[in-house]
This record gives sequence, C-alpha cells and structure tokens, in this order.
Amino acid sequence: MIIFNTVYDLQYWLATERKAGHTIGFVPTMGALHEGHLTLVQRAHETCSRTVASIFVNPTQFNDPKDLEKYPRMPEADGQLLKSVGCHALFIPSVAEVYPAGKDLTLRLNFGALDKVMEGHFRPGHFDGMATVVKRLLDIVQPHQLFMGQKDYQQLSVVREMLRLLGSMVELVMCATIREDDGLAKSSRNMRLTPEMRATAPIIYKTLLEARERVKESPNPQVQAWAMRKLADAGLRPEYFDIVDGITLRPIRNKDKSEMIVACVAAWAGDVRLIDNLVFK
Ligand code: AMP
Repeated sequence: MIIFNTVYDLQYWLATERKAGHTIGFVPTMGALHEGHLTLVQRAHETCSRTVASIFVNPTQFNDPKDLEKYPRMPEADGQLLKSVGCHALFIPSVAEVYPAGKDLTLRLNFGALDKVMEGHFRPGHFDGMATVVKRLLDIVQPHQLFMGQKDYQQLSVVREMLRLLGSMVELVMCATIREDDGLAKSSRNMRLTPEMRATAPIIYKTLLEARERVKESPNPQVQAWAMRKLADAGLRPEYFDIVDGITLRPIRNKDKSEMIVACVAAWAGDVRLIDNLVFK
C-alpha cells in the first residue's frame, strides 16, 4: 500500500493506474478504523481493481470543537489495518492540502429537508461541512465508485442527492452496518465509552429491533415516544428516534406509499454521541 500526503502525488499515481486500465474505488474515512471501515475496502475490491482509502478528520463538519478535539487519531494502526485487507493507496492529507488558503471550496447546494432533519437539526452545519469535503475528495480522487456505510444513513442520503444535483458519474455503493456481537454498531467513538456506558449502549439496537415489531401494531409517533422512553430509562440521553421515509427522510404519512422506511436514532452515552438506524422496509 502506498501512502500519499499530497494531492499532486496521489493524482500522479492515479493517472498512471487509470492509464493502465484500472478502475478506482474510493473509501473516505476519518480514521480510528474498525471492521466496519475494512468491509468497505473489501467491498470495493469486488468491483474495482484499485482501492483508495482516505483518512481526514474534517474540521468543518464538527459543530462541537470538543468533539473534534476528542476524535481518536491513530494513523499508524490504521495504515496496518488497511494494508491487511489489501488497500492499494491511502491518502492522508493535511487540512491545508484539502482546503488551500485563498480558495473557497464551500459547497452550497439545496438539499431540501435531507440535511435539516435529525442529524441536521442537532448538528447545525454538519452536512454542509460533510458534503463540501466529500465533493473535494471526489474531485481529487475522481473514482468510479464511492463506498459508504449504511451506519450513517442520513449522510448517505445527502451524498446521494449531492451526486444527483451535480450530475456526477460517480456510483455510490451503500454497505451494510457492521455490529459488535451484542448488536452495538461499530464506531470509532465506541472506544471512548466508559465500561458502564459500553454495557448500556447495545440497548440502541435492541430498541430499533423491537420498534420494527411494534410499528406493525401501533402508530409511528407512539412507537417513537416508547423508544425515547426506553433509551432514557436505560440511562442514555436520546436526541431523536424518528421513523421516516427512507428516501425523503420525512415522517411517514402512509406506510404503503413509502418504498423504504427507516428508523434513525441518536443518543448520548455519557459524553459520547452514538447514532444508529434500521431499515424497516
Ligand atoms: P467515519 O470514519 O466514521 O466517518 O466513517 C467512514 C465510513 O465508514 C462512512 O461511510 C461510514 O458510514 C462507514 N462506517 C462507519 N462505521 C461503520 C459500520 N459499523 N459499518 C459499516 N460502515 C461503517
């Protein structure tokens, strides 16, 4: 695996690989990698002959400076993990490399409700920062396919809409959420959980599973209120538990009219904010 720190070096290598006929798969990450990230790389290998991963803790998508400061960073261990799954190239740029001084790369697109509900409501500005960095990274790498996890369902929805609005040729591939044995979705943030909160956190997935059963009998608002109570009673501080249309992310008016239904949740476990989701339909 070759490690690149500059746009110039990465693009020089990519040009050579493309000329040799290779297809490029891209896996953007913020590092502190776990099995969830590695499955994206493995999925990329299935359809692309070259896989590029990036590690960049993007300051513009953190609305809370403390969260940015506390975000785990371990580039050496990450490099070893990526190597172990046969990743071809790793791009670790500096902030100045991604956002060169004097250039305003801020993406200004109208995502409608997609970036305003749920995460958008509780983390103002988060999706503007996320979309800007994904667009910037796509412009640098110019991959054939982009691999992202269902774990961040709303992020995926915003990126899908961004690609549509930009008329991009990049194909977005959604990869299933990888979980611990007790159901907790793998996340770089899990390593910051106290032992007590680590023991409590699997209630999030259990609640999603139980909610999937309850919506068969009860109206969504009632199930949402039940789920919020259940998470709070367990000792978490839930921000939202929303059952929404899987495409528009708006509340469901008519269950039969929504092609996809997904429940999305965010909850604080001590001072660690966790998110998860489950596709109901
Ligand atoms: P992050 O580094 O957390 O920003 O995540 C980078 C990519 O990995 C995003 O596309 C995430 O959706 C994906 N990802 C994170 N956790 C998981 C997981 N547990 N299962 C599958 N994909 C994940």
